[in-house]
Amino acid sequence: MPTTETFEFQVEARQLLRMVIHSVYSNKDVFLRELVSNASDALDKLRLEALRDEVSGADLSDPHIAIETDPDARTLTVRDNGIGMSHDEVVRLIGTIANSGTAKFLRELQEAGDSADSEKLIGQFGVGFYSSFMVADEVTLLTRRAGESRGTRWTSTGEGTYTIETVDEAPQGTSVVLHLKPEDTEDQLHDYTSPWKIRELVKRYSDFITWPIRMVMPAPVGDPDGDDEAPREPETLNSMKALWARSRDEVTDAEYHELYKHISHDWNDPLETVRLHAEGTFEYQALLFIPSHAPADLFQQGYQRGVQLYVKRVFVMDDCEALLPPYLRFVKGVVDAQDLSLNVSREILQQDRQIQLMHRRLVKKVLATVKDMMTAQPERYATFWREFGRVLKEGLLSDYENRDAILAASSFATTHDKDAPTTLRQYAERMKEGQDHIYFLTGDSRQSIENSPHMEAFTAQGIEVLLLTDPVDEVWVEAVPEFEGKKLLSIAKGEVDLGTKEEKEERESKREQEQEEYAGLLAWMTDRLSETIKEVRLSSRLTVSPACVVSDAHDVTPALENMYRAMGQEVPRVRRILELNAGHPLVSGMNRAYAADAEATGLQETAELLHNLALLAEGGELADPARFVRLMADRLERTL
Ligand code: ADP
Repeated sequence: MPTTETFEFQVEARQLLRMVIHSVYSNKDVFLRELVSNASDALDKLRLEALRDEVSGADLSDPHIAIETDPDARTLTVRDNGIGMSHDEVVRLIGTIANSGTAKFLRELQEAGDSADSEKLIGQFGVGFYSSFMVADEVTLLTRRAGESRGTRWTSTGEGTYTIETVDEAPQGTSVVLHLKPEDTEDQLHDYTSPWKIRELVKRYSDFITWPIRMVMPAPVGDPDGDDEAPREPETLNSMKALWARSRDEVTDAEYHELYKHISHDWNDPLETVRLHAEGTFEYQALLFIPSHAPADLFQQGYQRGVQLYVKRVFVMDDCEALLPPYLRFVKGVVDAQDLSLNVSREILQQDRQIQLMHRRLVKKVLATVKDMMTAQPERYATFWREFGRVLKEGLLSDYENRDAILAASSFATTHDKDAPTTLRQYAERMKEGQDHIYFLTGDSRQSIENSPHMEAFTAQGIEVLLLTDPVDEVWVEAVPEFEGKKLLSIAKGEVDLGTKEEKEERESKREQEQEEYAGLLAWMTDRLSETIKEVRLSSRLTVSPACVVSDAHDVTPALENMYRAMGQEVPRVRRILELNAGHPLVSGMNRAYAADAEATGLQETAELLHNLALLAEGGELADPARFVRLMADRLERTL
């Protein structure tokens, strides 16, 4: 006598289900796509496990997906004879949400407050098997893992709990029986027992599935047993044609998009489709997609990449990392190669010369697509850059061969335009007479960079500066010396020398004079601050602020220093340079005070305060904030 156990859904799963049940998600039809997609994956997995001898006693005779409807009982069944699930797998895979990005997604959901936004969020995330509960008030899943003798029956109304029962007899694979909610056109609940509807949905969403999807027609009304009928022939609903093997004009965008959704589990259309057909000795086809939004776990370890490998139309591997580099990990799709073994392993792929050639070609193709999008579809490109720019820039560090192509496909926030980012080429076209370099500044936010003292001379002279605020920017700028012959220079590093030849000469002579005037103060301050500062010098980049701190041209920036330290690397403290603005009354006043009495305590404290002010102005941290506050309060008190 089989026992039935009742389980509770994991909290997140329960939350998600509640949302699905009460959702106003307008396109309820997609539940069928999700069930067929799972069935197709299950058939893929069975073939793979059999190929690798990982399963014994499995039935491989007629792999297919079957759809049956019963209008009287109001049920719809999707059945496959694929890999199936064990008892534990059912609990783990159906009762819980394992995906790491999902937790974040659900938090967002709660903040959105279960309302109309939930529709958008369901769409952004895709709810897989749970989407059945959009159209059904009860779902029963009967499954038996290939090679095992007993099966598992799972039943739920989607509200809090589910039951599980072990059954002695069950066909291999999985069948999902939906007890359908009543038809309701207002609520987009169609008659999903109608063969016409099923045919239409399979054609629209699942035509490319490589396994046959068969429908057994329901018995005609008034003939419940179908006694007098000839045996009803199942009808195959899908063409099973691999989209990537067909020529461009044979396939509609909608069909491409459905394949994308099957592969990516995303419910939105992709941003861009990339096709590649390689003929010759090593023949392959690639159909790649750039999604329209970044998944929540893109920056988490163990992020699953999305390129599947097929060999001669047969699925062999998910998440094939040998095909694209980590900085293109957001790309989804299919690569189908003619001349690989079905048994190929990840290790072999990593070393295979043909695969390496394929990898090179795919990278170039994806980058070229992004570049084209930039000119032909600026809005689409803007979406791309917002979602994936940070990831793409990682390639500037790792992919030397394609560095120029990545730079050319990148864009950057700039002082030139508050809203629209610029490309490096556009920047170069706007460069002023006498300007030889491309200037940038890195930092935490646009606002803090824009107000940094380093910016002053550039603002005064109307010279454009790129504002780089992604963490990865700190790193790649160190590795990329130039773009099309123009050096990339940080305005917080080294000396700056702006303007035309005449302006530079004029400044040079003025500077020589000032240098002489301030020589004593500068040497004295350099000595006083030597613990953290390697040199105090006069600045040519300040117009308003009294002082700023800069890094030596070849030194590591403080942000990068912190980053290394956060990663647990030992890095020596880098001493930086303090620059003074000779045109500022505080600085000229200090010079007079120094000439009068170099030993005065007040002057020493002022030197220290000035250094701290310069650090604060660039958003930096003070070594001893408490002491700074004490000195500062003292000074303020004296002004009362
Ligand atoms: P997703 O398909 O996005 O992973 P689902 O909620 O649709 O999420 O399914 C969760 C998991 O349950 C699948 O990843 C798969 O392991 C398992 N599963 C679902 N349907 C089937 C099926 N028909 N046969 C075997 N396993 C299945």
